Amino acid sequence: MSNLDFFKNEAKKFLTDWQTQTQTVESDGIIIYHYDWKFYDVDDLFYFFEWDDKDRQEIKLSRAQHIIAKIAGYKNWNELIIRSDVELELAELLLRRFNNSDAIMDWAQAVEYTGIGQYGVEAVLDYAKQYYELGDSKDIVYLPLEQLTILSGKQRLNEINKFDDEHNPAGSLRKSSYVFCPHCQKAYNFNQSKVIKKNGTNLTMVVCKNFPDCRGTYLDNKVLTPTIIYGDARIPELEKGIAAFPHLSMNKKIECLHCGDKYLYNEAKVVIDPDDGEAWIHCKNYPECSGNPMDFMDAE
Ligand SMILES: [Zn+2]
Ligand SMILES: [Zn+2]
Repeated sequence: MSNLDFFKNEAKKFLTDWQTQTQTVESDGIIIYHYDWKFYDVDDLFYFFEWDDKDRQEIKLSRAQHIIAKIAGYKNWNELIIRSDVELELAELLLRRFNNSDAIMDWAQAVEYTGIGQYGVEAVLDYAKQYYELGDSKDIVYLPLEQLTILSGKQRLNEINKFDDEHNPAGSLRKSSYVFCPHCQKAYNFNQSKVIKKNGTNLTMVVCKNFPDCRGTYLDNKVLTPTIIYGDARIPELEKGIAAFPHLSMNKKIECLHCGDKYLYNEAKVVIDPDDGEAWIHCKNYPECSGNPMDFMDAE
């Protein structure tokens, strides 16, 4: 089936739904339309495209084709049928999802938000494929537990391991990230996330560590990426550390109990926590070592 056959067929489906139209007239003369639709939410779409009574009552295939072209994002049927293969593939993918105005607006917002349009139609097509596949996966988090399996072992790790430079070069979320889930308001190491799979499908989703009590997914995760402060800017914070831990001083040799490394206190790292904006003193070997002044022992 060529792309155009798909669109012609959708127009027929739309016409079928449209033909279920019945009308009631309100006391103020306003006509209310009712549809027993199966494929397209006809009334909602007419409203969305601002079709008036005359439009709505002109029930014929050419008009159904016109509205199918509109739903697919084109001005009219003639504009649609001259499109390139890539454009038609995109239009088909979208039309398969667009049976009401919410779906159309949701996509329009996603496109606007990402600015993907500037990279050309192939990029938009790639993005649409990802967006909707992800959408299907995303939604499984709300399924009843008996339809889901919580993956463990290697299967789970395979999904977590996708968050590396190779699979997600531009993303800020890494398997080593420390994340915050806004659903349950808990922070945790991303590699503690659970992975769920919808039974009988290949759909998987990386979800909150606290699933099923929390139904957040990795898409909601806020990456808590601490900022390391360098140079002299660290000094006021290191001095605060000395105030809190009087056994420390700038040129004191210390041993970090966490990693066993010995170094001068003034080599310690100062890290701004993205969550509370506070500066914290960490081991010189942060982030590999999670030691803090509590672990700094006198090494002299
Ligand atoms: Zn959560
Ligand atoms: Zn250390």
